[in-house]
Amino acid sequence: MINLLNFNQLQLADYFASIGEKPFRAKQLMRWMHHFGVHDFTLMTDIAKSLREKLAVGTEITLPSVQLEQISNDGTRKWLIGTDDKNGVANSIETVFIPEDDRGTLCISSQVGCALACTFCSTGAQGFNRNLSVSEIIGQLAIANRSLRSESGYELLPVNDRIISNVVMMGMGEPLTNYDNVVTAMQIMLDDSAYGLSRRRVTLSTSGIVPAMDKLKEDCPVALAVSLHAPNDALRDLIVPINKKYPIKDLMAACNRYLEKAPRDFVTFEYVMLNGVNDMMEHAHQLLDVIKNVPCKLNLIPFNPFPNSGYETSKPSHIRVFRDILMQAGYVVTVRKTRGDDIDAACGQLAGKVLDKTKRTLKAIPIEVDA
Ligand code: SAH
Ligand code: SF4
Repeated sequence: MINLLNFNQLQLADYFASIGEKPFRAKQLMRWMHHFGVHDFTLMTDIAKSLREKLAVGTEITLPSVQLEQISNDGTRKWLIGTDDKNGVANSIETVFIPEDDRGTLCISSQVGCALACTFCSTGAQGFNRNLSVSEIIGQLAIANRSLRSESGYELLPVNDRIISNVVMMGMGEPLTNYDNVVTAMQIMLDDSAYGLSRRRVTLSTSGIVPAMDKLKEDCPVALAVSLHAPNDALRDLIVPINKKYPIKDLMAACNRYLEKAPRDFVTFEYVMLNGVNDMMEHAHQLLDVIKNVPCKLNLIPFNPFPNSGYETSKPSHIRVFRDILMQAGYVVTVRKTRGDDIDAACGQLAGKVLDKTKRTLKAIPIEVDA
């Protein structure tokens, strides 16, 4: 069975052409599936009955299953979403909604686990199982939309009346090592017939897969966040091991190339604050030197602890000193607030359940993209 949620509009038009239907039907179907969240063919009244019948036989519109929905005291929500596994082992991923005064942000996962093994990340600690399909990535947006709307009485409104105004690819997994599926899903997010989000409101966070960053700037330039986390290669090699393959100098050059096409005129550098590891004054000064040629904003993320991580969160006074050094140099610096503490929804705590298939050598990391 073909799951139509795996197609962007162009691919859907090609599919329609291949079954002898008019390609423009793709737009209508995108609107029903994504804009209105209608997945029952019989309700798609402006599509010819004969086509609806044909679709009902050969295709499906199927979302992944929701295993659990949790709501935090601060309004943050988390969905545990099941992903089937051929050998019957349950895997799950997590999706988080963070309501704020002026926006609602959905944090989406791209893989079951992650192979890159950053030492401070609970997803990384679990290893890698598999890439998510397009339907599983865009399905997270559909599931969150459906749930948030049904509660607010907005069920029947199209997605223009947005509760979810922003999407960040910052959940489980490294989005740029699941390149094709992530790009197709983001194209659906940006498609006016589907979710119609602007490029500035979709942010992809990467640990720095340089060739894929170059490709992304051509294929789907959305806002970019880069997980820097260390101000020199020796330290970054230790905590973000992919640095051995794409060191800081190459990463900074890739950021500048990305900015030629990016929807914003800066990248956001994320920097996790690990007590006694990367949070000292000398690190802040080194960091200023590293980023000096890249237009950027900085986001300091207090480390969110998880069992047996071996790290501690930086002291608030150290974070303030670190932030002030950067601010005095003229940078816009934010310190991320932890949300959804009571439901483990914070950055880097998304764990799901992962059947680890990682081969822990740098060579085995699936980082190559077709250039
Ligand atoms: N793989 C991508 C996106 C997912 S992680 C990336 O690494 O950028 C999203 C952000 O959370 C990254 O900046 C990541 O480094 C950070 N993060 C991971 N574990 C964390 C933890 N325990 N505490 C705080 N931030 C963490
Ligand atoms: Fe993967 Fe990002 Fe976690 Fe590193 S921080 S292990 S790249 S999810």
